[in-house]
Amino acid sequence: MKLLVTGGAGFIGSNFVIYMLQQHPDYQIVNVDALTYAGNLENLKSVEGNPNYTFAKADITDVEAMDTLFSQGVDIVVNFAAESHVDRSILEPDVFVKTNVLGTQVLLDAAKKYSVTKFVQVSTDEVYGTLGATGLFTEETPLTPNSPYSASKAGGDLLVRAYHETFGLPVNITRCSNNYGPYQFPEKLIPLMISRALADQALPVYGDGMNIRDWLYVEDHCSAIDLVIHEGVNGEVYNIGGNNERTNVHIVNTVLQELGKPDSLITYVQDRPGHDRRYGIDPTKITNELGWKPKHTFETGIKETIQWYLNNKEWWARIQSGEYQKFAELQYGSR
Ligand code: NAD
Repeated sequence: MKLLVTGGAGFIGSNFVIYMLQQHPDYQIVNVDALTYAGNLENLKSVEGNPNYTFAKADITDVEAMDTLFSQGVDIVVNFAAESHVDRSILEPDVFVKTNVLGTQVLLDAAKKYSVTKFVQVSTDEVYGTLGATGLFTEETPLTPNSPYSASKAGGDLLVRAYHETFGLPVNITRCSNNYGPYQFPEKLIPLMISRALADQALPVYGDGMNIRDWLYVEDHCSAIDLVIHEGVNGEVYNIGGNNERTNVHIVNTVLQELGKPDSLITYVQDRPGHDRRYGIDPTKITNELGWKPKHTFETGIKETIQWYLNNKEWWARIQSGEYQKFAELQYGSR
């Protein structure tokens, strides 16, 4: 079995490549990644030299490069490659549309031309927009994205759906809640707060800090995608979430407590424009139909994650010295 994993040098993609090589030692994995600011081959040091793993540096919007890769034989595509940070999408929407919409279409065309047996589009609950105080996102919830990021992901998802309806391409779309765990780029909430708290820097929290996200440990997301690849019914959407709704300020307080830092580091900053209030996933379908179950609770996952960042300071220190630093200063100032 040969898997083409796009965006495998990013946070979830690299965890997925490592997970799949462990779970399926006989599978071949080709990781294609453009190595944008978010791509980091250091995440994959543990699998370098594995004869079943290869890396190709290429952009998913590059038709010729994708054709060359697919022509070498691909059974399954798992599309993680994306611009993924909401704040960046507010500053630069064009690159989000290019990668998340056009890139998906280029991959779909190649998948169709070379008759892949499964195309899994890794998407997000953010395409469903925002929830009020009650209710959960199901697979039937209408798509009402509110940020350029979520709108571009919704555009990609709709193309995936259309390639199934029009051409019979064997697809699945997975929509997951917020992930956390090892190798997450330190611009995202949890690693950002860990790295700033360790440096005794102010911890910027948007608005009143009461926005709610539904958190999932990245390894549990990987096990869900593995199941969808093998058991997912073609054309179906599967929501993935672990019933772990937490307010942002709860997350930040947990990080401070675990690190023994004072809550005086919390600084409330002007809210993000169009900031969704609450996300909550109903995972009944993947649980009942495919038998998926997460292994981690939020309490065990966050402890493991903080410990990983403490043990791997060089990993994130190197990242923070690069292009991210310019963006971080623009967003959060240099305090
Ligand atoms: P990430 O930003 O860490 O990684 C994205 C990867 O894609 C990077 O390695 C980057 O170099 C690569 N990439 C970007 N543009 C590319 C292009 N044009 N061609 C080839 N490679 C390109 O993102 P992540 O957090 O790992 O998210 C992975 C996927 O999961 C995304 O599709 C995202 O929408 C989705 N998702 C993420 C979360 C989350 O909480 N992080 C939750 C739900 C869904």
